[in-house]
Amino acid sequence: MDLGIAGKRALVCASSKGLGRGCAEALAAEGVHLVMNARGADSLEDTAAAIRARHGVEVVTVAADITTEEGRAKVLDAAGEVDILVNNAGGPPPGMWTDWERDDFIKALDANMLTPIALMKTLVPGMIARGWGRVVNITSVSVKSPVAVLGLSNSARAGLTGYVAGTSRQVAGQGVIINNLLPGIHDTDRATALDGGAAKAAGITPQQARTNREGTIPAGRYGTAEEFGATCAFMCSQHAGFMVGQNILLDGGAVNATL
Ligand code: NAP
Repeated sequence: MDLGIAGKRALVCASSKGLGRGCAEALAAEGVHLVMNARGADSLEDTAAAIRARHGVEVVTVAADITTEEGRAKVLDAAGEVDILVNNAGGPPPGMWTDWERDDFIKALDANMLTPIALMKTLVPGMIARGWGRVVNITSVSVKSPVAVLGLSNSARAGLTGYVAGTSRQVAGQGVIINNLLPGIHDTDRATALDGGAAKAAGITPQQARTNREGTIPAGRYGTAEEFGATCAFMCSQHAGFMVGQNILLDGGAVNATL
């Protein structure tokens, strides 16, 4: 299927590795030019070079922390006008409900709620002016089914979900389509780190922790960044113009719900 977005320009935040990289790769495969971001310059440059070589698209890189005001200013400065925005950042650390103080919540809200909102507020007006835009916010399965140890993530992402529910309907008539993409467990560094933490807590090996988690997924495995990216690219495509304010779950069937 031709997604009809060749030649468009996308900002993909937090995209040197993992799910962000999966989205960047899938968009580049459709001929979309990229602005890519991560904090670490080395892996960002390596990933950008691989994408340029494989897909022949333009890739601008900005090494910056997207969750800070200075970082966002740097990224926005380099990005200029974009047609597609993929919001992403690292997730908050796991813990117990008793661990988290006000500052921990402010940090999580800044990273996983207020940063995507700030980027939408800056970039969506240009999309409206040009009559076309797509925004995909990478959130989490925790929006639909809480992951108890990720209380900071559950809270911040629920806030973003509420914002998108209303805002997406305010801009859809002007050609800008905003949706959220909810990862269940995917095979990335983040999943490996969480397996490591679970293994330590339970006194088992990381491989055993992974096998246990795979056993909770009807598909019997973790998702891949490629599968995730392909869904993201569709949500950024011409064909997604009637998909407004949705929360698309990719979890191998792990959430046991009919709707
Ligand atoms: P990952 O494999 O650890 O990759 C994270 C990427 O984001 C890296 O490129 C990292 O590069 C970049 N990054 C992290 N913090 C950043 C920041 N403040 N500013 C700019 N770039 C930043 O993580 P992932 O698994 O792809 O997860 C992506 C998001 O999905 C996270 O919010 C995570 O909580 C959520 N999620 C993941 C899963 C899963 O199973 N993988 C499940 C549910 C939700 P640098 O470190 O160099 O900045």
